[in-house]
Amino acid sequence: MFPLKYLKRGYKDVLNILYPRFCLSCNKLLQDSEREICHVCQADLHLTGFDYLNGNPVYEKLSAIVNIERATALYLFDKSGVIQELIHNLKYNNHPEIGNFFAQTALDYLSNPGFFTGVDYIVPVPLHPKKQRWRGYNQMTEFGRNLENFFSVPYSEKILIRQIYTESQTKKNALQRRENVKNAFRILQATNYTGKHFVIIDDVITTGATVEACAETILNTIPHSKVSILALTMVL
Ligand SMILES: [Zn+2]
Repeated sequence: MFPLKYLKRGYKDVLNILYPRFCLSCNKLLQDSEREICHVCQADLHLTGFDYLNGNPVYEKLSAIVNIERATALYLFDKSGVIQELIHNLKYNNHPEIGNFFAQTALDYLSNPGFFTGVDYIVPVPLHPKKQRWRGYNQMTEFGRNLENFFSVPYSEKILIRQIYTESQTKKNALQRRENVKNAFRILQATNYTGKHFVIIDDVITTGATVEACAETILNTIPHSKVSILALTMVL
């Protein structure tokens, strides 16, 4: 009889022809053994190694300003590297599925320290509706939905909303960034969430001003709430 492994092999070859998969960073055709990213690009990605709950550099930076429980980032941000390309494709090139890749990293990496233990909701840094229409999606949605599946914590885009359209933060210094986003966010139906613990998810933490403003909005509006922060990447 024809061995099953050859049938499987043939099936995979047909799938590769019908549905070729490409590296989410460099766009090269992926091999069977590669998931969303090719091995060459994978080798250029640097995990932060901050897989402990607090006391790490992300926690130190953010907790100096806002009262958070836990904080971490998955990868180190490098302006000329693969990570920059991935974030750019996620935000601007209509590749929301890159969020799946990051969620898999979170699963591999944050399950053991129990980052999501006791957490009630996962919320993204919200986009203003105008910006979301223009982009067509919130770049954190796929990441958030996958985290919901992996860690059994509900993901919601209807709790924390952006009420003010803010200019881009990229050319501003830390103080200007803080001023720019100070009153940008609002909570819908705050009393429904009394005592809950939220994980705010964000793509890149630079000064941390945006995510801090989100955390402060939650803590100041929702009685007895707690906040933790998880970023895809961090600029050290
Ligand atoms: Zn690649």
